[in-house]
Amino acid sequence: MDTDERLDAIVVGAGFGGLHMLYRLRERGFSARVLEMGTGVGGTWYWNRYPGSRVDLESVEYSYSFLPELEQEWNWTELMPAQPEILAYLEWIADRLDLRRDIRFSTRVVAATWNEQTATWTVETDAGEKLDARFLITATGCLSAPLEPAIAGVADFAGDVLHTNRYPKAGYDFEGKRVAVIGTGSSGVQAIPVIAEEAATLHVFQRSAAYTRPANNRPLRAGEMEELKAEYPEIRARQRTSHSGTLRFGAFAVDELYRTDRLILQTAEEDRLRILDDEGWTAPGTFADVMVDIDANRAANELYAELIRRTVSDPRTAAALVPQYPMGCKRPIIDTGYYETFNRENVTLVDLRADPLVGITATGIETESGHVEVDTIVFATGFDAITGPLDRIEIRGRGGRLLRDGWVDGPHTYLGLAVAGFPNLFTITGPLSPSVLANMVMAVEQHGDWITDCLAHMREHEYLTIEATPEAEEEWTRHTLEVAETVPVRVHESCGSWYLGSNVPGKKRVYLVYTGGMPAYRARCDEVASGGYTGFVLG
Ligand SMILES: Cc1cc2nc3c(=O)[nH]c(=O)nc-3n(C[C@H](O)[C@H](O)[C@H](O)COP(=O)(O)OP(=O)(O)OC[C@H]3O[C@@H](n4cnc5c(N)ncnc54)[C@H](O)[C@@H]3O)c2cc1C
Repeated sequence: MDTDERLDAIVVGAGFGGLHMLYRLRERGFSARVLEMGTGVGGTWYWNRYPGSRVDLESVEYSYSFLPELEQEWNWTELMPAQPEILAYLEWIADRLDLRRDIRFSTRVVAATWNEQTATWTVETDAGEKLDARFLITATGCLSAPLEPAIAGVADFAGDVLHTNRYPKAGYDFEGKRVAVIGTGSSGVQAIPVIAEEAATLHVFQRSAAYTRPANNRPLRAGEMEELKAEYPEIRARQRTSHSGTLRFGAFAVDELYRTDRLILQTAEEDRLRILDDEGWTAPGTFADVMVDIDANRAANELYAELIRRTVSDPRTAAALVPQYPMGCKRPIIDTGYYETFNRENVTLVDLRADPLVGITATGIETESGHVEVDTIVFATGFDAITGPLDRIEIRGRGGRLLRDGWVDGPHTYLGLAVAGFPNLFTITGPLSPSVLANMVMAVEQHGDWITDCLAHMREHEYLTIEATPEAEEEWTRHTLEVAETVPVRVHESCGSWYLGSNVPGKKRVYLVYTGGMPAYRARCDEVASGGYTGFVLG
């Protein structure tokens, strides 16, 4: 098949990351094409249309900051908006910045090959088309490769099957249906209360209980958006100095959430309970020793269990809802009425630790203790996170080396942005960058800006290639793992999180995210650039 186009850059993905990247490239006079497998823009917010799908950061923080006029023109209606509003925002962005003419939809990138002779990438699509570009920029997201439910008999089910991560555009009517939800991660926790209100019955199949607390979401008050618009410059400046790029998480100020002066192991039992009475769901995680001392973490877990017992009336259900892994080992979830849902007559929790799953049949779900007949199964089984979207593309660098082959023992990257042996490849929110431990809109903007500056530097100095050195890659990979280990609960043996790849059978257990925080990360990236791209070879 012939190569039909020659571009400065091909960007894969049209979510927050790809849209910003395209704008920046065009702004600096680079020709670019975005290839997106969905039929529209939005990425996460295009695919995850399940009931209850919602961001856990405040809209004014989880939105683009790169053009102040966008902040002034768009009006959010809720503190933490639901999926339709975020998707509408991204569609508006695409129109407002006239981005669609350079995006090709319904186009999956299946392969990308580096050509030594021409110093270009050839990108191949699922339609067999080939496009050439000097740079390949992946904006494929961290949570965009769905994990298929590995359950015996899954294909035998004769009823309706829904997946939260590729939910039908037309929605689904749960009215009068007997429904099962499999999975109680972030998506399950968001969907369960909403489905419970509509369905005749809901069985929740839980393998691992989640830490979740009330979001305290609300509509913005009349005039509040105008006040926030006036505060944007200050909000953005403070976001940039915050560890996670976030000032508020689930309507709570991050500074207040993570105190440094109070130790749970030095707090008497009655004082712990008094703090719980005063502060509720935020209390257990606010002790300074919880993230560093596993005994402190267990004590916090016990406080958390007390809150569940206070909310869920059936003691057995309450006990089954208590997480069995360290608090803070995964990104905390926030919810709207999750625990209260288990007090409803039509909702049953099936604890798969006590009653293991046998398989799926034509009419329902079988566990060791019996069979539950259902009309609809909703799989909320998550993603092959962070490396998954890149592993699904045949990316071949120097000497035909396949990217995923080099990552069998965990990803090796420089700054989570580049890989030795893969010249002119940039990975937005790639493995070993702050990505999912940061406000991701801020993370994609930081990467997109850095990449554009790098391309402009190369153009100015007439460089054709840029490539991370193996030494720089090794140093960054080691540094990232060392930083992760400074927070023991994140890597504790009892922590099985998608940050460690533990949810994917056979995936090497390695911490996939840089945990040193956005300010330190940004400073390092800036230092690399101002030093003339140290750790890279330019040619
Ligand atoms: C349910 C859910 C809730 C979330 N909530 C939050 C939150 O509260 N706060 C937060 O900071 N983050 C949240 N995230 C993370 C979220 O993914 C990011 O905030 C953000 O949307 C990432 O944007 P992105 O452009 O990097 O990636 P994505 O939005 O994932 O977009 C990637 C795009 O690349 C496309 N793509 C991938 N592979 C290919 C290929 N081979 N060929 C063509 N196209 C391809 C995909 O179709 C997708 O459209 C959430 C994620 C999920 C799934």
